[in-house]
Amino acid sequence: SPSQGYYTRRGGVGESGDFITSPEISQVFGELIGIWYISEWMAMGKPTTFQLVELGPGRGTLTEDILRVFKQLASVLSKCDVSVHLVEVSPKLSKIQAAMLTGGKVQPSPEDESAYMKGISKTGIPIFWYRDIQDVPPGYSFYLAHEFFDALPIHKFQRTEKGWREVLVDIDPEVPDQLQFVLSPSRTPATQNFIQPEERRHHVEVCPEAGVIVQRLASRIEKDGGAALVADYGHDGTKTDTFRGFRNHKLHDVLSAPGTADLTADVDFSYLRKMAQGKTATLGPIKQREFLKNMGIDLRLQVLLQNSGDTATREQLLHSYDMLMNPEKMGDCFNFFALLPHHRLVHPDKKDKPESKSPLPPVAGFNEL
Ligand code: SAH
Repeated sequence: SPSQGYYTRRGGVGESGDFITSPEISQVFGELIGIWYISEWMAMGKPTTFQLVELGPGRGTLTEDILRVFKQLASVLSKCDVSVHLVEVSPKLSKIQAAMLTGGKVQPSPEDESAYMKGISKTGIPIFWYRDIQDVPPGYSFYLAHEFFDALPIHKFQRTEKGWREVLVDIDPEVPDQLQFVLSPSRTPATQNFIQPEERRHHVEVCPEAGVIVQRLASRIEKDGGAALVADYGHDGTKTDTFRGFRNHKLHDVLSAPGTADLTADVDFSYLRKMAQGKTATLGPIKQREFLKNMGIDLRLQVLLQNSGDTATREQLLHSYDMLMNPEKMGDCFNFFALLPHHRLVHPDKKDKPESKSPLPPVAGFNEL
């Protein structure tokens, strides 16, 4: 909701907010993602230009860490024209991103331009802000969605003896100012349209907005080239009731004080895969700890530990590594998932001449190093 929504009003990412995310925990997270993009850019033949497009950039920390890697690898990227495109609905968070990435040097765009704000990063790269992925200009792009899809609204469905029913929100007639969940008395348009015919679960959460966005990303990648990396907590079509709220880092009743707490549901990667089908290939979901291990997090940690003189920094590095990698913390419940052009994984003429081509380089993160 533009006026009452959590992200437009509050949007508390970070230690002082309602929930903490991986890029806010460790700089290594964003650095390894930056390396993933460089690695894919090289594997795809070093195109002369690319857009880095992030959906829901939060405080801008992830992009900041990625741009630091791009700067460190400036000699590799020297002949490439890079620009950054951020899709963000929250006025409050876009201001925080502008401060973080440009030092506050931004200007509103004229009405007739698709971006609502633009600036230059501290490392000299042009940055543009949009409210919708459809506003981002076409072109070879690397997309990033970290803890974005889990924030989009879901529909909930319950299987009953009479068939599928939608879980709806109603007022509680007994208690003033209290909402309650109810089951639709009959089928609704959503039960007819959003449940897959082969569905086996008894309770399902579907995020059609995520489906539409993935279809758009897949169409853009198919047409203009590039790749998308999606990272979120989620499952591969197995979980049921995951909808929950967070406020001040504590679980919060989703029905109480709407608009004041972060509402979230696990991402169903099997649904995203279905939405990309036919247009792009997909990889994953793979657990965060496996992806980061394959990306070389252990080596990076060793280097940082060797370079840090004081005990407090070393402890902080080890603590944040544990948060990201420990299966009991974020290591197992967070997953990585990628959309890639079909030709990135299979030679287009492989069928006719299977032996004639050298093997394609493996996609970093999804295979062991
Ligand atoms: N990627 C960041 C922030 C995750 S929070 C991190 O990992 O730290 C979710 C982000 O998505 C916020 O920036 C929020 O403002 C943004 N967001 C939520 N709904 C959105 C929508 N419909 N369109 C664009 N951005 C949205």
